[in-house]
Amino acid sequence: MIQIEKRDSPPEILETDGVDERRAHSVSYAHDPEAYQSGERSFEFDDSIYGHESVKSALIEAQHRKCSFCESKVTHVAYGDVEHFRPKSGHRQHSEEALRRPGYYWLAYEWTNLFLCCPLCNRRHKNNLFPLRNPEDRAQSHRDEIEDEEPVFLHPGREDPEAHIGFRKAVAFAKDGSTRGRRTIEALRLNREALMEVRRDYLATAFKEIRVLLRMVESGNLTSEKETEARQVLRRLMEQKRQDAQRDDRPFASMLCDALEKVEAQIPEE
Ligand SMILES: [Zn+2]
Repeated sequence: MIQIEKRDSPPEILETDGVDERRAHSVSYAHDPEAYQSGERSFEFDDSIYGHESVKSALIEAQHRKCSFCESKVTHVAYGDVEHFRPKSGHRQHSEEALRRPGYYWLAYEWTNLFLCCPLCNRRHKNNLFPLRNPEDRAQSHRDEIEDEEPVFLHPGREDPEAHIGFRKAVAFAKDGSTRGRRTIEALRLNREALMEVRRDYLATAFKEIRVLLRMVESGNLTSEKETEARQVLRRLMEQKRQDAQRDDRPFASMLCDALEKVEAQIPEE
């Protein structure tokens, strides 16, 4: 997970149709809050607004076609979900508990609440889970302040997830015992087997040549001339990888950065 910098101005449709919808929903809610809380009435959200092509393409640009959580490339646009960081229809503090309604309906078309996500992270794992450090602080309606909440999940647009989540090889771990890092990893299953396999392959390929050169240098069997040559190539390849790791459009950029540090430490002194 890396920090995502979205453009400041929302796509127009969110400011026109989105604002109209939000207003209509807020009026309906104010009219009969109990009916929405009990689930007797529920909101219908218009995915042709928050999932509009202009919204998707702005997210794709900001996120370089990567899932905001697992950093996999969302290869085909049709497979990418526009996901709501704060769930719009209902929320759960724990995955076992019943869905609490009505959810953050007033943020359904809110630009800062939208991200591009792979279907696995979004539908299967995150779903409506949205724990708060203190559930008592939860905003219940458009009249409440979300700024009073302390979400457990890392917000990829507002903070740097790399301060909380690091990688040991292909395995994500919570840095410095970060509770928010740990719970984000667990809830989104960022160490699910299929994803780890892709990350392992990615690492193996990315460092293949470097590992061969490292072994040669470590072996001590090279003539000094050959060793100098091998070190030169190694330095060049490492520099390439450093540049790669700084590019946010690389899949698993966060993991690549951590792996690079490890490899760097393994290069024997001259
Ligand atoms: Zn994902």
